[in-house]
Amino acid sequence: MTATYENLIREDLGPVVRILVNRPRVANAQDRPTLDELDAVLRELADDEAVRVVILGGEGKHFSSGHDMQAGLAPRPGHEDEGFTVERVWFHEAKYYVEYCLAVRNFPKPTIAEVKGAAIAGGFMVANMCDLIVASEDAFFSDPVVQGMAAAGVEVLVHPWVMTSRRAREMLFTGEPISAQDALEMGMVNRVVPRADLESATLELANKVAQAYPFATRLLKRSLNLTQDMMGFTNAIQAHFATHDLSHASVESAEMRAARGR
Ligand code: ZN
Repeated sequence: MTATYENLIREDLGPVVRILVNRPRVANAQDRPTLDELDAVLRELADDEAVRVVILGGEGKHFSSGHDMQAGLAPRPGHEDEGFTVERVWFHEAKYYVEYCLAVRNFPKPTIAEVKGAAIAGGFMVANMCDLIVASEDAFFSDPVVQGMAAAGVEVLVHPWVMTSRRAREMLFTGEPISAQDALEMGMVNRVVPRADLESATLELANKVAQAYPFATRLLKRSLNLTQDMMGFTNAIQAHFATHDLSHASVESAEMRAARGR
């Protein structure tokens, strides 16, 4: 069965479902309809007992270029005409970026990010919400927003949880990308394979994981997430989000937007 979606491609592959963001013309930038659809399909898959593992990827050359900046921010209900306010930014980012990201992280079954080309900013966030990452040799990861957008990193500061603190600082301060090979060496990704083998290698890993007893796997994932939470994961993510939104209200952020005509 292959269902039809507006912004996604869904492939049912036995116990594995592969979901691809299908916006290749904009390098799979994440706009509101895409993120709504992704969240909705994950809710469906969470309840579908036939599904054991979910692969998240992108159609075309890239995993995702990040948030769709052209698509703008969601207005608060009843405040459709307001400009770039803290309230509007918070309303939009808390739901579309933080809540939806944590829903990927808290999805009850194993997830694998299938990453090729760019995984930038919001793309980096979503890839790192998955349990496992398989990357092609051409993949790269970056978070250039402090250098380019006067923002205190992206909304979900997952970086120090998936690499050493020192590497995370270098990545964030410099805005320089991390290659797939570097990501492998620092333990951020599980496998790096030639581009031509990405889909088959990811599916092979997914099928291996899908052989495990599903309830035990679900309980284990819950424990792994709770272990991180006892180390402060969710609290740290939420604390950073407030700080991130403070950075959108800064003078330098206003100057950046004025310079870019936004
Ligand atoms: Zn933001």
